[in-house]
Amino acid sequence: MDVVIVGGGFAGVTAARELSARGRRAVLVEARDRLGGRTWTKDHDGHPMEFGGTWVHPLQPHVWSEIHRYDVETETFPVLEGLRQAVVSDGRLVDLSDEDAVRALAALDEFCAPGVSLFPEPFAETLGPDPEGLTDRSLREQLDAFKAEPALRDWVEGMCCTIAFGPLEQSGASEVFRIYALSGHNAEQTMASLSATKLVKGTRELVNSIAEQATLADIRLNSPVRRVVQSDGGVRVELESGESVSAPTALITLPMNVLNSVEFEPALSEIKRTASADRHAGIGMKCFVRVKGDVGNVSIVGPEAQPINWLVTYAHGPEGSWLIAFASNPKKLEMTAFDDVQGMQSALQPFLPGVEVESIVGWDWTNDPHALGTWCIYRPGQLTQVLPDLRTTEGRLFFAGSDSSNTWRGFIDGAIESGYRSARDIDHHLAAGGIAARG
Ligand SMILES: Cc1cc2nc3c(=O)[nH]c(=O)nc-3n(C[C@H](O)[C@H](O)[C@H](O)COP(=O)(O)OP(=O)(O)OC[C@H]3O[C@@H](n4cnc5c(N)ncnc54)[C@H](O)[C@@H]3O)c2cc1C
Repeated sequence: MDVVIVGGGFAGVTAARELSARGRRAVLVEARDRLGGRTWTKDHDGHPMEFGGTWVHPLQPHVWSEIHRYDVETETFPVLEGLRQAVVSDGRLVDLSDEDAVRALAALDEFCAPGVSLFPEPFAETLGPDPEGLTDRSLREQLDAFKAEPALRDWVEGMCCTIAFGPLEQSGASEVFRIYALSGHNAEQTMASLSATKLVKGTRELVNSIAEQATLADIRLNSPVRRVVQSDGGVRVELESGESVSAPTALITLPMNVLNSVEFEPALSEIKRTASADRHAGIGMKCFVRVKGDVGNVSIVGPEAQPINWLVTYAHGPEGSWLIAFASNPKKLEMTAFDDVQGMQSALQPFLPGVEVESIVGWDWTNDPHALGTWCIYRPGQLTQVLPDLRTTEGRLFFAGSDSSNTWRGFIDGAIESGYRSARDIDHHLAAGGIAARG
């Protein structure tokens, strides 16, 4: 074997395929009983529901290229026909006309304007000048200084909550500016890249298509890693089962928040350990909520004072509707458990007065030991203090994953991009050490 890959999310699976294409043999060890990590398509009530990562867009070049490569079918979601857009502002539901929606986008453009100079070339590794110290500022601070008419301001705040998916005072303002920059410094394109297109059969179709072409990789599920030991001779990866796998190199694709749950010998850099202990800010709750009756096709945003920050119709009909609810700070939800129907029902009243909740399904990523968080949103300061080191090779250990992507960090695209990069770097490293490709 040339490489042991730890983790079978999009980063690990992409790296396995890319290494195969380069004639490199890998063992991929994944703790779960499935591939995909923080993406997970689960069939429920006749629907392929995405409990994790969902949306993709042509502005995300790596994932879009994979979609074309495997001829994966995409669809517009949410459906735009008859879409009722609204915002909960000052506790009241305010409908947004088409004209209001345009004004809301203009408000988002204005909110993101200070970040334009920070990301003049968002696909490059370097940042622009930051005389105002934006990289150290939280979204809360940035929003407190932002003026707009109340409903539009609340809409912008609700979008920031949905993008950050963590408490605003803990989420870096630069994270929203980065996504805006990657979307061409344009609010309309930002909205499209965040939530306009999904995969018809689910993300599992894409991750499985990639895995099928990892022909030189031995993919082992149900194989949680306990310890990674590096020596002059190579890397030994010890599993909780007591087995171990060895190779000249290893690729670590663990989520940033999970790094410290594996023992590394020698220890990882202090920056990596501190980043994992501090964690990124993403702790939100995404769930599918079944409600009585046909609530129509809605997309309703709520500011941070609301326990829900985005509510969108997934499916609807006279026999009932499925909504997707996003709560950026689940502590604000007065729910006793993930599936507390009464707690969700009261949280939804400002959004859909009188709505009756029947059931809730989803996944608690923050308490999932193999994720310990949702998508990666850096805290103030982590962009400059943590990112460069998280990507840095340590001896025979290479690092990949969406949480350390330079571009679409926190997205499926970033995971795929990191898989390409790390496979290339490992191939070069092995070749430089005289280990020729054998596959
Ligand atoms: C609720 C939610 C919604 C999201 N929405 C979107 C979206 O709409 N669009 C988008 O692009 N992105 C979205 N994302 C983000 C996207 O899903 C992730 O950024 C991306 O999938 C991360 O891929 P990864 O390979 O870097 O990490 P992961 O998918 O986390 O893969 C890491 C793997 O390591 C495994 N692992 C952990 N510990 C061990 C161990 N000890 N031993 C072995 N294996 C281990 C994990 O089980 C996991 O499979 C969302 C994420 C969440 C949680």
